Amino acid sequence: MSLNDNIHQLTREHLKIGPDGALRQAPALLAELRNAVTPGNTGSAGGASGPPIPINPEAVDMLARMAGDAKADYREITGNPWPGDLETLLQHIAAMSLAADWHAYLERLTLEWVNQITAFLWPIKPRRKLTGKTCPACGLALHGDERAVCLSLGCWDDDGNLAKIGAWDIECGSCGAEWAGDQVAWLLRALDTPIEDVVHVS
Ligand SMILES: [Zn+2]
Repeated sequence: MSLNDNIHQLTREHLKIGPDGALRQAPALLAELRNAVTPGNTGSAGGASGPPIPINPEAVDMLARMAGDAKADYREITGNPWPGDLETLLQHIAAMSLAADWHAYLERLTLEWVNQITAFLWPIKPRRKLTGKTCPACGLALHGDERAVCLSLGCWDDDGNLAKIGAWDIECGSCGAEWAGDQVAWLLRALDTPIEDVVHVS
């Protein structure tokens, strides 16, 4: 993605592909990150006697680091401090004509921020371990010095929701065998693992 695309996603409402493959409008990533700073803040102002609003320190740190980095870069490029906030600075940068090396550097930096915010707000759920099940390819249920479970099931979409079974996959951490598509339902049956158990056991 280009620098302007990254800044657009960070600072403005943008189109995002949903789990159904359809485009929908999503808030600016930095706005979502700012919301995550106070997850308990429902918008109704608590009185002085109310409980303190919980603060998510990781979100605070990310915002402070990004604002600090962007302002330091702006100062280095222009020789001037930036008086406003991070969003207005990024939008200003998007409209600047930058030297090629600065452009490339900021493109990498803003892409890192898009990825960091996305990973923080929507962490990828871990694969389901198929504990006690033997891999039909290598015959092992556990492998390595740490006795790790061999078979794992991928059943989440990018938003952390349960994917359709046709999109699931099973892989063996020991021999690397993989099953996908229709093979997954077949293998779960062969392993005597009802799909309902896989879905409902956390
Ligand atoms: Zn295996």
